[in-house]
Amino acid sequence: MLRWVNAVKSLFNRPHPSAKEPVRIPRSGHNISRKFIDKRALDVLYALKRAGYEAYLVGGGVRDLLLGLEPKDFDVVTNAHPEAVKQVFGRKSRIIGRRFRLVHVYFGRHHFVEVATFRGESQGGQRKTDERGRILFDNVYGTMDEDVWRRDFTVNALYYNIRDFSLIDYVGGLEDLKQGLLRLIGEPETRYREDPVRLIRAVRFAVKLGFKIEPNTEAPIQPLGHLLQEVAPARLFEEVLKLFHNRQAVTVFEKLRHYNLFRYLFPQVDALLDEDALTRGMVLAGLHSTQKRLQQDKGVNPAFLFAFMLWGPLVQRMQYYLSQAMQPAQALAAAADDVIGRQIRTTAIPKRITQQVRDIWHLQLRLDNRYGDRAARLAEHPRFRAAYDLLGLRAEAGEPVRALFEWWTTYQALSPVDRVAFALEVAKPKRRRKRRRRNRNPYRRRARSAEADIDQGSEAGE
Ligand code: ATP
Ligand code: MG
Repeated sequence: MLRWVNAVKSLFNRPHPSAKEPVRIPRSGHNISRKFIDKRALDVLYALKRAGYEAYLVGGGVRDLLLGLEPKDFDVVTNAHPEAVKQVFGRKSRIIGRRFRLVHVYFGRHHFVEVATFRGESQGGQRKTDERGRILFDNVYGTMDEDVWRRDFTVNALYYNIRDFSLIDYVGGLEDLKQGLLRLIGEPETRYREDPVRLIRAVRFAVKLGFKIEPNTEAPIQPLGHLLQEVAPARLFEEVLKLFHNRQAVTVFEKLRHYNLFRYLFPQVDALLDEDALTRGMVLAGLHSTQKRLQQDKGVNPAFLFAFMLWGPLVQRMQYYLSQAMQPAQALAAAADDVIGRQIRTTAIPKRITQQVRDIWHLQLRLDNRYGDRAARLAEHPRFRAAYDLLGLRAEAGEPVRALFEWWTTYQALSPVDRVAFALEVAKPKRRRKRRRRNRNPYRRRARSAEADIDQGSEAGE
């Protein structure tokens, strides 16, 4: 019954395609200048136009230009079908995607402009959805006045027409842009159910643009958060990078916590945040350092993000294994398996990256062991720099590793010759094996080595 009511409600709330005449703003009425549009995106737009097709810039590119921000990328949309687009651009283009096919037009090996074909409705003006309301089929081509209703927020649904440089607004996006409002197109709950990733997109755009989330768009965010559990982990992985590899990563984190969405991205971290100061300290120190690097135009690395985010859960899990009399390195490896194993059920982290996370963690145990030529060998490790940065975050988060971090800071500033002398000043490591052998009682021996592990763990691992 309820489902039926909802279905009817969404029918009424969804504006019918072409139900509304768009507002057209001529070139003289807006501030988008071709000067600020990426040259390659312009090339693509003109080539499509010359071939007789409609071609528009849409999405974040248009929105950011109107706001005077520098767009991250430019999305092109056209009435040409993918095969036709491919004909226009020939060998420099590739059709990609299975569910909805797009064309990538390449400029050099690494840069491409994404060209999408207008999406339309499947039969009967209704999108095919599953019993929970998620979109199932999404592969029908259409016209601009159908395409617009499938977009997420009004400010993301403005079209810039390459034919006459006018702007086309079906959904009141320009007014919302002026007001600083993030508003979903259509009935919010329906739109979130169709694609729950819109819940996190709402948070990301509100922070990025400094916009207020319009009340009807905001109200369902927390109650519907659980829908994120059904999103494909590979997609959530991509979203997590967009959320936190961001110049406002800290605010994004706080907003996600505010709407109780963070737990659907990092469940193990969320469970510890309130009770464990180290977990909280690492997340905040890590996100502050991420946003600072981005503000300075420095690169960021997904492995490092996961390494600091999951450090709190790792330490907890490692303490458990140490209490089971495992050696530190083994305990760390077992804890890493557990923590990463649980995280990838939520966000599918590619293997290459989880291996780097493990290396960064494992190096934390080795950083203390720097006598003689060991320091030089450690500094050569491909993950050394990330491991050193993580050590810095640990110091900031209150772990007793400040002196060690400063030692490595000094070490790296020295010339190669001075480094050798500096590393010889470190106290020679004690030889534990000999001492242990003196103890003949096998039971006492086991108990003692467990203690030694815990001691060593708290020295290097906490
Ligand atoms: P940015 O690139 O700055 O992150 P964007 O708005 O360009 O923001 P994209 O993910 O590049 O975001 O998507 C381009 C456009 O495609 C969006 O502006 C929106 O119109 C549409 N879109 C993207 N994802 C969705 C979605 N999940 N639901 C509906 N429309 C979407
Ligand atoms: Mg974009």
